[in-house]
Amino acid sequence: MSLLRKSRLILMAFSLALGAAIISQAVFMAEAVQRIFVEKASFSSIMLILGILLAVMALRTWLTYGNGKVGLHMAARAKTAMRGKVLQNLTEASMFSSLQGQTGGKVSVALDAVDEADSYFSQYMPRMMEASIIPILILVVAFTLHANTGWILLCTAPFIPLFMILVGLQTKNKSEEKYEQLAAFSGTFLDSLQGLVTLKIFGRASRQQQEIERSSLGYRDSTMSILKIAFTNTFMLEAIVMLSIGIVALELAIQLLVYKSMTFHTAFLLLLLVPEFYSLLKNTGTAFHSGRTSMGAIRKVEQMLEETEQTSEKGSDQKLQPAGISSLQEDIGALHPSLSTVPPFIELKNIQFHYAPGSFELETGQMSIQPGEKIAIVGKSGSGKTTLLNLISGLLQPTSGEVHMNGRPLMLTPEADWFKQVSYITQHPYIFAGTLAENIAIGAGNDVSHADIEKAAERAGLASLIAQLDQGLDTPVGEGGRGLSGGEKQRLALARAFLKQPSIILFDEPTVGLDLRTEQILQRSIASLSQDATMITVAHRLYTIQQADQIWFMSDGILADSGTHQELLERVPAYAEMVQIQRTGGIA
Ligand code: ADP
Repeated sequence: MSLLRKSRLILMAFSLALGAAIISQAVFMAEAVQRIFVEKASFSSIMLILGILLAVMALRTWLTYGNGKVGLHMAARAKTAMRGKVLQNLTEASMFSSLQGQTGGKVSVALDAVDEADSYFSQYMPRMMEASIIPILILVVAFTLHANTGWILLCTAPFIPLFMILVGLQTKNKSEEKYEQLAAFSGTFLDSLQGLVTLKIFGRASRQQQEIERSSLGYRDSTMSILKIAFTNTFMLEAIVMLSIGIVALELAIQLLVYKSMTFHTAFLLLLLVPEFYSLLKNTGTAFHSGRTSMGAIRKVEQMLEETEQTSEKGSDQKLQPAGISSLQEDIGALHPSLSTVPPFIELKNIQFHYAPGSFELETGQMSIQPGEKIAIVGKSGSGKTTLLNLISGLLQPTSGEVHMNGRPLMLTPEADWFKQVSYITQHPYIFAGTLAENIAIGAGNDVSHADIEKAAERAGLASLIAQLDQGLDTPVGEGGRGLSGGEKQRLALARAFLKQPSIILFDEPTVGLDLRTEQILQRSIASLSQDATMITVAHRLYTIQQADQIWFMSDGILADSGTHQELLERVPAYAEMVQIQRTGGIA
């Protein structure tokens, strides 16, 4: 903030100096013309004046350049700060808010809208500063030299800002509309690119093409309507300025020729200053227009920040956690240095959750998990198993009730500390554009050796794949790299977990049928990984279910019953039925 104020002060100083330079330039120009044409002085006698005139012109150019430069610096700083904030906001947002909205739309705001904000600082601010200082200086000079000119300037000048405000108000809504169009366009484009294969398979590619065409035309139209307003705006401004200069010139001519009440020097000086006066006000018009467009963009960025903050409210740990509690947690952490390596005692205290009021409701009642226990969550598709796993992981926050770790509410534990001890292996692990080694290394801190990564890869059953690859662990994977099969992705996720050595493993077991060998590798790796950890699995395999210490049976969002495999078989007919379907080859 103080940096912005400093920049404003510099802008003000530059504008004042620029005003002085503009007036001096006119004064010396009028003086030179007076001496040459009226007094018929010799060229050598006005050499000094011409020299000073040149110096003042150079100074004026330098000051204009300086003003622009300060604006550019301000814009660069503001854009860096805005992008930083947007990125921070997106990375710190809860999983729930990350899932909302289109990725393309977010990208468009983070890149294009921030870029568009540039002209507010680089154009609007310097021009506005100039316009609020220099015309006043010129007005003072005009009133001092010839009050009539001063009055004409004073009476005609308000038409320019008045006109600008009217047009500005129109473009403001238009430019906000334009941003909505652009975000929608980017979103449709990115979604279509990402889902191109699906679209082709379902024969929807051409329909999507039409959709892209429709939204790009929408964007074109809103851009064109802004440009239309901008062009009309410029034309009208020019007309007003020409008319006003004409009135001043007419008045000066009458004074000079008819009433002979004025010297040529004064009249000429005023005639030089008047266009400067209007041109400054006119520049403000253009700056005002681009400023408005930028404000639309800035508002869009702010809106996005607000939206992610609102949806993150329940998820963002930083927000929920008062500073005092955070330091308390640090103290507790210091008292229990082994906190992250020993599995905690987990309790679910009457958790209730819904994504939106009136939709799917989840309820758990009172549940507890002893350190090192193996839990299998089972139930039909859509019964809320993944949602429950996300609630235990802290990625989603309960609507009511609490998850407790070692007797303390999970939401009081700093997110970073908590995620240090958890590995979450989802059904579709995300593979980043980078090498295999880099992708495994994100499982741990920065201080992992190549040997550690290799060992983790080996324990996860990736050794044979790596041996086949020319570049081994350095093979690029993910976007633009080598593709990986579903089983290989799962193993990569396991390698991340081996490197991390978590005390809690959350595992969303793949529903897709893996080949027998991959199954065996996964089972063996999971078993070895979970030796010293609590393991909570959304289970689809009978083997996993049978191995579990406790099975939680979910039905329509309710954690209906829990117990061992035998207990549930005897007690819950729906469970017995589900197991029967499993046996005969179906999946839950
Ligand atoms: P399961 O893992 O048992 O198949 P889920 O936990 O994925 O079930 O989903 C439970 C219910 O919540 C389903 O009705 C699903 O449509 C709904 N649901 C899942 N994710 C979201 C979300 N991000 N927003 C709204 N509803 C969701």
